[in-house]
Amino acid sequence: MIDWVAVHRRHHAFTDRPGDPHSPYRYGTGLRGQLRGLAHAHLGWMFADDQTSAERYAPDLLADPAMVRVARAFPAYCALSLALPFLAGWAITGGLYGGLTAFLWAGLIRVALLQHVTWSVNSLCHVIGSRPFKTRRHDRSTNLWPLALLSFGESWHNGHHSQPSCARHGLERGQIDPSAAVIGLFERLGWASDVHWLDYERIQRRRADHPQQARVLAGD
Ligand SMILES: [Zn+2]
Ligand SMILES: [Zn+2]
Repeated sequence: MIDWVAVHRRHHAFTDRPGDPHSPYRYGTGLRGQLRGLAHAHLGWMFADDQTSAERYAPDLLADPAMVRVARAFPAYCALSLALPFLAGWAITGGLYGGLTAFLWAGLIRVALLQHVTWSVNSLCHVIGSRPFKTRRHDRSTNLWPLALLSFGESWHNGHHSQPSCARHGLERGQIDPSAAVIGLFERLGWASDVHWLDYERIQRRRADHPQQARVLAGD
């Protein structure tokens, strides 16, 4: 989990430039290069010989005992999330076949589907979709509404890259963002603190078509 944070921070530091661990523009913007880049951003980057140093990109998490405990427990959580559907299927149907069917659908297929949605944020959400908000130079992150619900709001990726520290990714009104709703609930319950939200005015100023951005682009 800490490794994931390190990779993700590096992605923000070098978005769609050399150094980005999973940019779909790695092989250029020609058709062949774009397809190859999409495959790289989706899945291929994990097999590339390109390690991201957690010591360099996530020293704060490595120094936090609670975060280290969560990271160490990750393999156990994975095993549990496969074992629980099997046990539930077995208990509900009273047979091995029910257990295996539940393991297949609520275990393996669920994980595979979720992984592809998460990987699509790295691949598709830098290539297709809308770019209503201003991001840094070279950053091609997009908002892709069809994945909003399945990705728990993560596919409002242009909003996230525009305001990376904001707990909401769906910056515009009406954009479904279940992760932000969970963070908000945890905040109300007192389980989360120092959560960073943005006011509506500040968000509007980051819009690509906001007059202030037009002035910035014109160089005033
Ligand atoms: Zn991104
Ligand atoms: Zn991010």
